[in-house]
Amino acid sequence: MSKRKRRDGGPRDTTPPPAPDPLRVPVWDAHTHLDLQDTTPADALSAAAAVGVDTLVQVGIDVPSSVWAARTAAAHERVHATVALHPNEAPRIVLGDPDGWSGQRRAPGGAAALDAAIAEIDRLAALPHVRGVGETGLDYFRTGDEGVATQQESFRRHIEIAKRHRKPLVIHDREAHADVLRILAEEGAPERVVFHCFSGDAEMAKTCAEHGYVMSFAGNVTYPSAQPLRDALTVAPTELILVETDAPFLTPVPYRGRPNAPYLVPITVRAMAEVKGLAEDDLAAALAANAERAFAPA
Ligand SMILES: [Zn+2]
Ligand SMILES: [Zn+2]
Repeated sequence: MSKRKRRDGGPRDTTPPPAPDPLRVPVWDAHTHLDLQDTTPADALSAAAAVGVDTLVQVGIDVPSSVWAARTAAAHERVHATVALHPNEAPRIVLGDPDGWSGQRRAPGGAAALDAAIAEIDRLAALPHVRGVGETGLDYFRTGDEGVATQQESFRRHIEIAKRHRKPLVIHDREAHADVLRILAEEGAPERVVFHCFSGDAEMAKTCAEHGYVMSFAGNVTYPSAQPLRDALTVAPTELILVETDAPFLTPVPYRGRPNAPYLVPITVRAMAEVKGLAEDDLAAALAANAERAFAPA
């Protein structure tokens, strides 16, 4: 399959940031979108490995990107896949693309199209190289009221798939904390739950910790405005945190606005170590062990 085009217009300055100093203890990028980056998986992997980022979780957001993730993981030992319909994708499958923000001008497919797409995700979730189900969840920022019912239904069905395959659930939660937690409780959470690009505050971090949910921190933890997120990281137990890029998005300071990629993970690790008051090597070792555990084969 050919590489997919970015849908958000892309960064203004497209010059890749320089490589940071390597980590001495290797970590994972626990959430990335190689198919949206201007590089090949092999090049992304070697650039990352050169700075101590030795394993990537390639995340699907729709059926084609989930197929691509599974295939890429099968081809590269240090890439693991997760598969799902993104919370903004599920309503588009059912309702089409009425607001046109995605530029896809898709026709509405109705409930049958959602059933077919979820059946395909279920089939992919069984594959050995697919280590998780996600990103699924709720996004009340991008999708308006008309999409909420479909988002919630899709989220519930992904929870069921994760449980049946005994694989971790990777959650995208944007401005929907209360409903994400409520639906997890109503359905019964899978054994392993990862909140990708964790965006809650200290209170939310405590709630996640009580449930044993893993909190994955992205480059936005470095943003000056993100003090509530750093407060969340402060209280999050070290054994329940991950580092991710969500690349090509959320490039850490000082390269905000330029393209993100897995090789920039060390910048976020160092920022996290400072927040937690931990030595870089100790945090990196914990992050690596946490990722191994979170995405261990079923
Ligand atoms: Zn996301
Ligand atoms: Zn993502």
